[in-house]
Amino acid sequence: MFRNTIKESEMVFPREVLIGSGYINKITELCRKLKFGKRILIVTGKTTKSLVAERVFDDLSDRKFDCDIVVEERATEDSVNTVKEVGKNRDLLMGIGGGSKIDIAKLASFSLNIPFISVPTAASHDGIASPRASIKRNGTSISVEASAPMAIVADTSIIAKSPYRLTASGCADLIAKKSALKDWELAHRLKGEPFSSFASSLAMLACDTIIENASNIKEGLEESAWIVVKSLVLSGVSMSIAGSSRPASGSEHLFAHALDGVAPGKALHGEECGVGTIMMLYLHGEDWTKAKEVLKKIKAPTNAKELGVSDEAILEALTTAHKIRKDRYTILGDNGITPRAAENVARITGVIQ
Ligand code: ZN
Repeated sequence: MFRNTIKESEMVFPREVLIGSGYINKITELCRKLKFGKRILIVTGKTTKSLVAERVFDDLSDRKFDCDIVVEERATEDSVNTVKEVGKNRDLLMGIGGGSKIDIAKLASFSLNIPFISVPTAASHDGIASPRASIKRNGTSISVEASAPMAIVADTSIIAKSPYRLTASGCADLIAKKSALKDWELAHRLKGEPFSSFASSLAMLACDTIIENASNIKEGLEESAWIVVKSLVLSGVSMSIAGSSRPASGSEHLFAHALDGVAPGKALHGEECGVGTIMMLYLHGEDWTKAKEVLKKIKAPTNAKELGVSDEAILEALTTAHKIRKDRYTILGDNGITPRAAENVARITGVIQ
């Protein structure tokens, strides 16, 4: 139906993608193979440091790598600047942890122009493989340009042990492609925005993999971690092909970012996107019940109460979401939706009572 209208593009993909049980042990060999140099800086969090990063540090040091660890918790400009300062004479940065540690390492490496390896210890969102990063600015998280990781090492035995809520959130971030792709098609039709059927098909495949496997995605199962990580990587690659986050992020992401501003720290990114997807599919006139059913099956939130936010917060986010990113045309249009329309969509889809 849609012709590929992107006629020129520069695509940067990860060079090595390693997903498997016990694969944390493959990092040293990978670093030797990539031949970027010996000076490595690991960016990690407090908990992950003792659980995973110190093991990687020891392995690398044993093989004569000059390794250092820096601990940062939240993806803010301050933490990125700290990592830039410590990492400026390094050959390689490595982000080990959940989304924020990977985002910090990704942004610092982009700005220092040195390669970066993504080592996710949870499958909570598609930032583990994408050329974009989320950072907190003035209390709101925004998505900014960065580079795709040079390599990704996802150890499914570690990811399977992470809190299940993180995996469910990663699944919800993938379900979000349903409405994101509808928004992209709309922007292509109404605004003549370039559309890539290749990028779109990959993002859809990532989403469909979760929908088809929803009943098999369960707490503690390594198989589930494998399905989710593989799909998150696919979604990241779709962004590399499109040269933007378009295939992965539409009105549901605008809603999620708006909600994060209205009710900060209440819900996870993917959880907010999942609830956003239900409502945005309704606005598109699509079947939203299926998305809701899948989210329920994987135990991701489907309403305000489960997100831990008030009904008012949902309505405020719905009516202000269009202001988050003016260059991203979606079903919310240039002027957003009215308070009455917001209340309708939120009530009909059961997001508010
Ligand atoms: Zn997302």
